[in-house]
Amino acid sequence: MSGIGESDRPFEGQRRSQEELRKTAGTLYIVATPIGNLEDISSRAVKVLSSVDLIAAEDTRKSKILLDHYRISKPMLSYFSYNEKARAPQLIEKLLAGQSVALISDAGTPGISDPAYHVVTQAIANRIPIVPIPGPSAFLSALIVSGLDMRGFAYEGFLPQKKGRKTRLESLKTEPRTIVFYESPYRVLKTLKEIHETWGDRKIVVCRELTKKFEEIVRGRVSSVLKELSKKPTRGEYVILVGGSPS
Ligand code: SAM
Repeated sequence: MSGIGESDRPFEGQRRSQEELRKTAGTLYIVATPIGNLEDISSRAVKVLSSVDLIAAEDTRKSKILLDHYRISKPMLSYFSYNEKARAPQLIEKLLAGQSVALISDAGTPGISDPAYHVVTQAIANRIPIVPIPGPSAFLSALIVSGLDMRGFAYEGFLPQKKGRKTRLESLKTEPRTIVFYESPYRVLKTLKEIHETWGDRKIVVCRELTKKFEEIVRGRVSSVLKELSKKPTRGEYVILVGGSPS
């Protein structure tokens, strides 16, 4: 059996069934959870969260709200951006000892602008079975109601907060597919202004607080959407989708 921390190990020779891998280690489940509405969770996710030995969560207190809602009580461990490199080997150790672990994030799908990468790569290197439990993700929910071209899209996550924003936008200027960003309420107007300056008055869709009480979807050209959003405080969580380059 391979040791912990060999995340650079090549992927070759890894064709083994999940069943075969399960004989030597516990299973790592990557579980999607709601992006707001607590009802948006699959019955399989609830079953898995109720049956694992341990739940690794970004913020254990936030996840407790969801787990309490479904009357799930399990040992928990924190796994977030700043401790994931140190935490991943600890989770691998438990998995190699035969325990099953579910990884969840604060909202949506782990790994999508959320931590998961380190434990997933280390699990692969250690021949640990990894099972996805699919469910919500904010970008996908936004995309399917956007009305923008969905045949292809470029998921960009968050733009850099300070340095590198302009360079990133410049590099995407000729991207022909629909482009999807995540943005915080503090930077959403700034981002729309920069998109307008760099790409012109493209079609844009801004989705706010999806699946929550104050869900809002604003569609239009960048200039009109910017004007609309400037009227009220920009509280909440945002997905911004921009039409691809027409040229
Ligand atoms: N893993 C998550 C997913 O699968 O969507 C994304 C996590 S990322 C740290 C958080 C960002 O996702 C927020 O800042 C916002 O841009 C977006 N987001 C999450 N929930 C949202 C919601 N209900 N409505 C709109 N955007 C949301």
